Amino acid sequence: MIASECQLTVNPHDRVLSKSELAEAASDVDGLLCQLTDIIDAELLDKMPRLRIVANCAVGYDNIDIAACTKRNIAVSNTPDVLTDTTADLTWALLLAAARRLVEADRYVREGKFKSWSPMLLLGHDIYQKVLGIIGLGRIGSAVARRAAAFNMPVIYYAKKRKSAEEENRLNVEYRPFDCLLKEADFISLHVPLNEHTRHLISKKELELMKPGAYLINTSRGPVVDEKALVRALRNNDLAGAALDVYEYEPQIAPGLTDMVNATLTPHIGSATVETRTRMAVMAAKNILAGLKGEKVPNLVNWEMENKL
Ligand code: NAP
Repeated sequence: MIASECQLTVNPHDRVLSKSELAEAASDVDGLLCQLTDIIDAELLDKMPRLRIVANCAVGYDNIDIAACTKRNIAVSNTPDVLTDTTADLTWALLLAAARRLVEADRYVREGKFKSWSPMLLLGHDIYQKVLGIIGLGRIGSAVARRAAAFNMPVIYYAKKRKSAEEENRLNVEYRPFDCLLKEADFISLHVPLNEHTRHLISKKELELMKPGAYLINTSRGPVVDEKALVRALRNNDLAGAALDVYEYEPQIAPGLTDMVNATLTPHIGSATVETRTRMAVMAAKNILAGLKGEKVPNLVNWEMENKL
């Protein structure tokens, strides 16, 4: 789509470019289609004087300094909605895998240890009728909540702004203040964006407030959880388990985390299906083409740039 309307340069390597490589390769571009692994900060923007739009191929845009873009009259777009259900599905896959010890069970079979059915073999915990706590009831959080009905799980949520009674009824969810949710939920799933308010939203204090035997699921962004504190809680069996798709310093994983059998770990694959990644790519291409043509950008993040392109 882009090549048919623009002169296009594609990163030729199957890896993330370093900041200096990106600055050199993109020094004279008008538009940049990037991934969440590309850090777009003021220093980089200063080396790209022609830039008019940054189209992130992700819904989260914590990799981009939005204020620095707006200051330079650069539009920023993201890819919301098209990945909502896919990410909600992975969240449930992780929740189920953690509670029913699927990864351990798979390994057990492959290692030839399955000699006989046994009454105490790989006992997990029930999911149905347990309380699901959702932190951040936006697009993905709501999609996770909708799926809970199939498992007969009551859903409580915490959000910055409480939903209307109508919306709560529609989603069959009950609001709780943050600390109450931490104390009450058997499974806690995080769906907030990463920003200065949500960094380490779940740290030592919050982990201590969680029910002994609760599970933490994170498919939002790694730094929302203090990973060191989480490793300690898992090591002490303060929690029954954690299931993580994202990491504080990804692709690095906190020391000790990969040793924990009560941690289920996936490599940031929340939206990784053929269908969804295709939809995201098309959406990002539409965003960048609109921006370059001076048209309304369908998924503009910095609304201040509306009508300014
Ligand atoms: P969204 O619709 O914007 O939902 C985020 C929700 O979090 C909003 O309802 C927001 O409320 C709420 N929120 C913000 N700050 C909060 C706080 N301090 N406490 C409680 N709630 C807070 O975004 P989404 O489409 O659901 O995506 C959520 C995040 O998931 C993305 O930002 C991204 O980082 C992550 N994600 C990860 C993957 C993956 O591959 N693992 C895939 C897709 C998305 P307000 O609207 O009132 O601010």
